[in-house]
Amino acid sequence: MKNKYSIFSLIKNAFSYHENWQRAWRDPEPKKEYDAVIVGGGGHGLATAYYMAKKHNIKNIAVVEKGWIGGGNTGRNTTIIRSNYLWDASAGLYDHALKIWEGLSQELNYNVMFSQRGVMNLAHNLQDVRDLKRRTHANRLNNIDAVWLSTEEVKKFCPIINTSPDIRYPVLGGTLQRRAGTARHDAVAWGYARGADAMGVDIIQNCEVKGIKRIGDTVEGIETTKGFIKTKKIGVVAAGHSSVIANMVDLKLPLESKPLQALVSEPVKPIIDTVVMSNAVHAYVSQSDKGELVIGAGTDAYVSYTQRGSHDVVEGTLKAILELYPIF
Ligand SMILES: Cc1cc2nc3c(=O)[nH]c(=O)nc-3n(C[C@H](O)[C@H](O)[C@H](O)COP(=O)(O)OP(=O)(O)OC[C@H]3O[C@@H](n4cnc5c(N)ncnc54)[C@H](O)[C@@H]3O)c2cc1C
Repeated sequence: MKNKYSIFSLIKNAFSYHENWQRAWRDPEPKKEYDAVIVGGGGHGLATAYYMAKKHNIKNIAVVEKGWIGGGNTGRNTTIIRSNYLWDASAGLYDHALKIWEGLSQELNYNVMFSQRGVMNLAHNLQDVRDLKRRTHANRLNNIDAVWLSTEEVKKFCPIINTSPDIRYPVLGGTLQRRAGTARHDAVAWGYARGADAMGVDIIQNCEVKGIKRIGDTVEGIETTKGFIKTKKIGVVAAGHSSVIANMVDLKLPLESKPLQALVSEPVKPIIDTVVMSNAVHAYVSQSDKGELVIGAGTDAYVSYTQRGSHDVVEGTLKAILELYPIF
């Protein structure tokens, strides 16, 4: 098929300071009423709207987002995609998701930069070895690709890892899922938003849900910073804030929200072309296409809804990984 955008139109657009660029999705004011309203414009909320419209033909939907789409966890994570979980039910669910990722750029006609560069989990003590071997076998029984690597094979797969036996957390081996990898996290939100919008879904940003109106046990609609929106159905897809929203109708969800932290370095030359996770060191590392080292850390010890990082987590995580990756 001939591409409708020629190289000349690309160059013209590049020099037009985005002025003539088509909007990827509309910016509508809320209608008075929808068949369903999704609260939360992250990857999950937008995907929910997309598949409701596409697979269930429910198109009179709004996604309401208090900030900007992808501005929650979706745009602030370490972008790891894998399905090598232990239990049958979770492995099945995650592998279903991984298969969706494998065709997502084509499905959305939007490059989500899914890169199957492999995810390796390191074992640093005998218990780790037992646990990770058990997981490798469980994965294989579930038809999920997983291989066990010796220390030498770990070193060969990712040469910057220090595999010397006398470090604090020596590497005793690892498990590798080759189909796993990373994606461009905010492109996922943008791709689903564009796809849902094209089917008529209203994506309403800067629209915070403040309350839920009901009569008896029946929901009448939502109170938002852009006014009242009538609907009988509400999908709560607000990640850590889901319990806050459920609380608006006196539902107590058994959830505690704690910020998980991560950090990125300034861009450096390409030094790591896979994802390495280590539970004992409690850090995971990959490198973004721009060159930043993307480093996952731990959670704060206390419940909160903040989106800020804290210096002690950055310091503790870097201290822990420097011996494992001396090049850092
Ligand atoms: C540091 C970190 C690293 C992570 N790393 C990984 C990883 O490597 N791999 C992986 O698979 N997962 C990872 N995760 C988890 C992953 O990011 C989340 O599971 C996922 O992004 C959640 O998407 P979501 O759409 O459910 O939530 P979100 O993207 O958080 O979207 C929820 C939205 O709801 C909105 N909202 C909340 N309250 C209201 C309201 N009252 N009215 C309107 N809107 C509201 C928020 O603004 C937000 O945009 C990580 C998370 C963090 C924090």
